Amino acid sequence: MPRKLADLVIKNASELATPYGGSQKPLIGKQMQILRIIKNAALAAKDGKIIGIGETASVMSAFKADETIDAKGKTVIPGFVDPHTHLVFAGSREKEFETRLKGATYMEIHREGGGILKTVQDTRQASEDQLIHNCRRTLDIMLEHGTTTVEAKSGYGLTTKDEAKCLRALQQVNISHPVEVVPTFLGAHAIPIEYETKPEDYVDLVVEEMIPYITSAKLAEFCDVFCEKGAFNVEQARRILHAGNKHGLKPKLHADELTPSGGAELAAEIGAVSAEHLLCASETGLKMMAKRCVIAVLLPTASFTLMTQKYANARRMIELGVPIALGTDFNPSCWVENQQLVIAVACRQLKLTPAEALTACTLNAAYAVNRAAEIGSLEKGKKADVLILDAPNHSFLGYRFGTNLVNKVVKDGKLVVDLN
Ligand SMILES: [Zn+2]
Repeated sequence: MPRKLADLVIKNASELATPYGGSQKPLIGKQMQILRIIKNAALAAKDGKIIGIGETASVMSAFKADETIDAKGKTVIPGFVDPHTHLVFAGSREKEFETRLKGATYMEIHREGGGILKTVQDTRQASEDQLIHNCRRTLDIMLEHGTTTVEAKSGYGLTTKDEAKCLRALQQVNISHPVEVVPTFLGAHAIPIEYETKPEDYVDLVVEEMIPYITSAKLAEFCDVFCEKGAFNVEQARRILHAGNKHGLKPKLHADELTPSGGAELAAEIGAVSAEHLLCASETGLKMMAKRCVIAVLLPTASFTLMTQKYANARRMIELGVPIALGTDFNPSCWVENQQLVIAVACRQLKLTPAEALTACTLNAAYAVNRAAEIGSLEKGKKADVLILDAPNHSFLGYRFGTNLVNKVVKDGKLVVDLN
């Protein structure tokens, strides 16, 4: 039989490891641990998509390629999906980091006008071009560390004009950078200073002005709310997410991060795609999430940076059948671009195995951004978003940490990072 033409073949991988993508649902319980593993593997891509996968001998006899990469001794996995970032902002908060090291809590800093509100000030002053520049710089680093798709939240503008500016910056970056950016409207990230004494008026603004404007300009896919004591309560979050839903924005929720506030229950009640953080989520809330298949997006590097020693109870969530995804929570108080570090912390603090963590950073994360039909696993028909790791097998993920294991990144079938 004549060999079919491929654009790119990756051959001789010591191991190819990928979650199974056929279930049409995020993976839960033991499914998270079961990877498809092929030794001495190869993968063929054409027009940005995977057209063949298997042992090197069989792939090479079926395809001939314009470009061949020899991955000898290395491991092939799907590109990472980072399902929770605050990508777009200006400025930095290294001074606040020192205050936190001396014992100040997140909410104490927030009440002093630091934290999110400091970044809001810097972001309002920044031009759209400056924000685009910042995002591109971050995405370059994320891509080098293996992230090929990223969810990005607004939330440092907190006026209609500035939220739209941030989301337009994301839209521009998505067009011009290899990493795919999935935009989330997070106008309800904090109560801005000018609404400090009248928070309900700010909720009105989000519902009556921001959401209609953002959706008519097609600037976001998801709507998120920071549901927490000192931010937005459950009633306010419910109202905002319902309004978003009505305008076509799928709901997500920052839930139960610092205090148990009924966030997991709300996420289940409204059928959110995901609830994120969940350090203080109740057993009832988690059971409700499992029932409605709400994805728990866990952010162990955020816990690490908060220094409270409190982490989400991932093992219990897995027992209960809650699907788990992992993200960086990249933001000015948790400045981490690297999903490999998230895996390292998730293994040690959440007690996930490298296989579970890989599923959480790829296929389940793809479900959390509504892209699982296209990305998140290596299989025929999906996008060829592929990492070649300088590691003999996938168990090196999390095990070897503090260095970048990525050797090459293929996005949409094109070699975009080559660290040889
Ligand atoms: Zn966040």
